[in-house]
Amino acid sequence: MFVSEALKINSQGHLEIGGCDCVELAKEYGTPLYVMDEGLIRKNCRTYKNAMDNYYNGNGLVLFASKAFCTMAICRIAQQEGLGLDVVSGGELYTAIKAGFPMDRVYFHGNNKTLDEINMGIDNNIRRFVVDNREELDRINDIAAQKGKVVNISFRIKPGIDAHTHDFIQTGQIDSKFGVALENGEAFEIVKYAASLKNVKVIGVHCHIGSQIFDLAPFELAAKVMIEFISKLKNELGIEIDELNLGGGFGIKYINEHDPIEYDHYIESVSKVVKSLCEDRKIKLPFIVMEPGRSIVASAGITLYTIGAVKDIKNVRKYVSVDGGMTDNPRYALYQSPYDAVIANRPDAVRCDTVTIAGKCCESGDLLIKDITMPEMKSGDILAVLATGAYNYSMSSNYNRIPRPPVILVKDGTARVIVKRETYEDIIRNDIMPEDL
Ligand SMILES: *Cc1c(COP(=O)(O)O)cnc(C)c1O
Repeated sequence: MFVSEALKINSQGHLEIGGCDCVELAKEYGTPLYVMDEGLIRKNCRTYKNAMDNYYNGNGLVLFASKAFCTMAICRIAQQEGLGLDVVSGGELYTAIKAGFPMDRVYFHGNNKTLDEINMGIDNNIRRFVVDNREELDRINDIAAQKGKVVNISFRIKPGIDAHTHDFIQTGQIDSKFGVALENGEAFEIVKYAASLKNVKVIGVHCHIGSQIFDLAPFELAAKVMIEFISKLKNELGIEIDELNLGGGFGIKYINEHDPIEYDHYIESVSKVVKSLCEDRKIKLPFIVMEPGRSIVASAGITLYTIGAVKDIKNVRKYVSVDGGMTDNPRYALYQSPYDAVIANRPDAVRCDTVTIAGKCCESGDLLIKDITMPEMKSGDILAVLATGAYNYSMSSNYNRIPRPPVILVKDGTARVIVKRETYEDIIRNDIMPEDL
């Protein structure tokens, strides 16, 4: 009935997540409120981890792409479930460090790592830098040399696969700020150059072909293209690549029309392709890394809001406004992402009315869901927007000086706060009033 298996209707006739009544949660913690189902997060981690164990003899590592939802508590959960972590900034790395996450399972991504970030990664002995470009390669090598270290790296490769279109194509992806391209020889040249440097060691190659992908085929094609590249490096440069990282991007169900593949199928099918191609090309089986972000946390999260104004503009549109908006979920404003919603205090009410759910920010584009069929809604109802566990909290802002909502983790009927609600004091924390102003 709901887009996420985390949800059901309880005996009070209210929406329930992780054994907790959403109406009670809203009462106790206030709205807007991010709620995450710990059980489903752990289950998703295990699906990937078990698939790696079952289909590839555990000769790999699943990383949680922390940008999807980065807090200290989620780092702890990923650690306990045997996952590694993908970070793309000093802030994400700092969160992992503070959470006590094992640094030998941390991969550092990003297309423009700063000197500070490179220093921080090297000083903390992270497992891998995924190098994006030549300047960065030189910088890492120089800094490693100053510290008397050798840093293990892999390269972000543009495999030339655009998986964003339904009929994915194998060209056109060269126009991206991320990585080095295969088709113009850039990727080959950078690996060759890196092999001549003393303070970096080339371990792997990496690609990430897109997000919210619902097909196996683009991942199989990416694996094929990358294995061919690995084979070329071996044959022409004598460089043996130990690790193949195929990124993330596995699609999830935001609305009923979305039909995601079960997550373990990705690792199953990629493993098959890699094994058969490596045998064929006579290269050793690489250690495989996969980096799911969204698919681990999105469906586990919901956001609870209180409904305020209902504005029915006859023959035009009916706006239902909530006490949050683009500050806690900018994804509609950014890329018209679709969402489903239910009224938490009447989740099974008949849907009879087409409305647009709007936020409270001073932007006409501040919408959460455009033209959704909902039951009759009134001020004071609790609205649950579903599948908000990924790229909501992590993309939130203080626009209009709106404090960020808290995040609570629910499991077996118990709720724990993992991020507290920001206060107005937090909002002005970094403001300085110059004495002479
Ligand atoms: C964003 C990203 C991911 C995670 O993507 P999802 O769509 O959240 O699974 C993994 N790897 C890299 C390099 C990324 O940029």
